[in-house]
Amino acid sequence: MLSSSERQPNAHFPVDPPVGFVEDSSGKNLLTELHSVTVMRCPRCGAVDAGTAARCRSCGNDALDRTEAPGRGRLVSWTVVRRPAGAFAHRDAFAVALVDLDAGPRLTGNLEGWEHEPPLGAAVRVTGEIDGIPLFAVEDSSEVPSP
Ligand SMILES: [Zn+2]
Repeated sequence: MLSSSERQPNAHFPVDPPVGFVEDSSGKNLLTELHSVTVMRCPRCGAVDAGTAARCRSCGNDALDRTEAPGRGRLVSWTVVRRPAGAFAHRDAFAVALVDLDAGPRLTGNLEGWEHEPPLGAAVRVTGEIDGIPLFAVEDSSEVPSP
C-alpha cells in the first residue's frame, strides 16, 4: 500500500501539453488505447485534481478546466458492497476501489475481478463505466511494488 508521503496530492502531468495525447515509448497515443477518466486541471499552474474541490489546491484558482486523464493507476484500497442500497439497489454485490491515477489524482471507482482478491498496489486500468463511475480492472501483467 502506498503511504501518503509517496503520493503527490497536487501532482502534475509529466508532459506538457499533456491533454489529449499521452504517448508511450513507441509514440503510440495511450488515450486511444485506454479509457480515460474526467479530472479537473488548473490552467494557471497545471495541477490536476479528481474534481472534488471547487478551487485549485495548489494556487487557489477557481476556474478549473474539465479534462481527460489516462485511466491507469495503482490500487490503493478496495471493499465489497454486498447489499447495495439506494441508487445502487439494482446492482448485485460490487467492489468500490480507491485508485491513485498515474496522472496524479486519487479517485474512487468500481473494481471488476475483486473475487480474485487483487493485492493493494496492483496496476489497474479503466475498462469502462458503470452508472457514471469508472470501472477498473487489474492489469494482467501487474507488478506490485514492494512496501
Ligand atoms: Zn492552480
